[in-house]
Amino acid sequence: MLQEKKKVVIIGGGITGITAAYYLQKEAREKGLPIDVCLVEASHRLGGKIQTMVRDGFVIERGPDSYLERKQSATRLVKEAGMESKLVNNTAGKSYVLVQERLHPMPGGSVMGIPTQLAPFVTTGLFSIQGKLRAAADFVLPKSNPVEDQSLGTFFRRRLGDEVVENLIEPLLSGIYAGDIDQMSLMATFPQFYQVEQKYGSLVLGMKKSTPQAPKKSPETKSKGIFLTLTSGLQSLVDGIEAKLEAGSVLKGIRVDRIKKMDKGYKLELNNGEKLTADAIVSAVPHHVTHAMFQQYDFFDPFEHMPSTSVATVALAFPKEAVEKDINGTGFVVSRNSDYSITACTWTHKKWPHSCPEGSVLLRCYVGRPGDEAIVDLSDDELSRIVLEDLNKTMNITMDPNFVVVSRWKDSMPQYTVGHKQRIQTVNEHVAQELPGVFLAGASFEGLGIPDCIDQGEAAVKKVLQFLQ
Ligand code: FAD
Repeated sequence: MLQEKKKVVIIGGGITGITAAYYLQKEAREKGLPIDVCLVEASHRLGGKIQTMVRDGFVIERGPDSYLERKQSATRLVKEAGMESKLVNNTAGKSYVLVQERLHPMPGGSVMGIPTQLAPFVTTGLFSIQGKLRAAADFVLPKSNPVEDQSLGTFFRRRLGDEVVENLIEPLLSGIYAGDIDQMSLMATFPQFYQVEQKYGSLVLGMKKSTPQAPKKSPETKSKGIFLTLTSGLQSLVDGIEAKLEAGSVLKGIRVDRIKKMDKGYKLELNNGEKLTADAIVSAVPHHVTHAMFQQYDFFDPFEHMPSTSVATVALAFPKEAVEKDINGTGFVVSRNSDYSITACTWTHKKWPHSCPEGSVLLRCYVGRPGDEAIVDLSDDELSRIVLEDLNKTMNITMDPNFVVVSRWKDSMPQYTVGHKQRIQTVNEHVAQELPGVFLAGASFEGLGIPDCIDQGEAAVKKVLQFLQ
């Protein structure tokens, strides 16, 4: 089918780019397609935001720590790397929301903060009586008029009231996206809630009807959590896939600065002064990099106005005796109306027991959110002091940490603000028209979870093959 050897350049060696490189080489090999794949990564390592540090018997994730099991593309990639024996689910323990200095257990039966069982909502101390009564208005409020998009805040405040949003839904949803719930797009993040509202009217009754019942467990059965990771750390998945890429097909420490369309194909200008040519390109870099590489095309301008939040993770290792007030659970998220700098904390030794040596405690906290991103630039010492102060409000930690690992992720969380889907679709239509053979993929576009990025890497491979045929 293909006559001459075609060259495909994949820009960016995060999970999206390595997925695209791996599956494209696999397809070419298995089907005998004459395709050369070159993966170009600006830094000296692959993985992008996936980065694991192994130290003193701890497995410390500096970026993501796991992925949602039900999104199957990630486990498929793990199997491709031959690493399924290293997969482990999180311990399903209690999780909490911290509201104004108090930890409240997450009400049972809530799906992303939406109640699907009434009793835990009626009895929780998370909301006042007025807040609960306001949430009950969901049963009688009519469904909203159809709109193309709206903010998560607008949607949930209308249905359930401000208090449920601020004390539960906001900390949960903003925790995932490091975003502002009143700016974030409903349709680009959780369109299923809109569909449920449109179908059933009441969100609560609709979620109850449409959420599959969890199988009943005997008290002895330890229930598995809904996330998966690798006991050797997520970086080992990256390393496993890298080992399967064809020799000489990865350029590391080289940045693509500019891309120019030629009569046939594209010319890529690299920061070392060299150039690459390509018949097709998968751009698996953040949107602002895409904008810079293609700066001569003003249809990428919407990317200039698409914000990204800076966050940092602060992991603190202690001996077990250091934590006097140990809490039964796996972690907590912090509501915005609490006087805290951290936005969430995972009791990693409980959520992921494999990641810590016996007799130790590993606490991993997040800082940085819209409106409080400057905190990410503080020194390691200042950050660990602030984090410890916050933790001591709930935990009583009596010793200094054995060590602290601070990981800063500047402009790392792309914000899907209202209208995101439409904006991306419009850019993609321009790209298809004016830059045939160029495909955009990755966290800036159609989902930022690891499996979403893998899906986009796989989809890019299909589009490249279709284009080259
Ligand atoms: P990236 O990982 O950003 O990779 C892009 C790559 O492109 C980088 O390696 C970069 O060096 C390279 N690059 C940039 N410019 C150029 C250029 N000009 N030329 C060549 N290369 C270039 N998701 C989950 O599913 N579960 C979690 O638990 C989770 N936790 C997270 C915690 C944190 C702190 C962060 C920051 C994210 C988290 N995420 C989580 C989200 C997820 O990790 C990311 O969305 C995903 O890893 C992004 O992958 P990517 O390939 O799109 O981009």
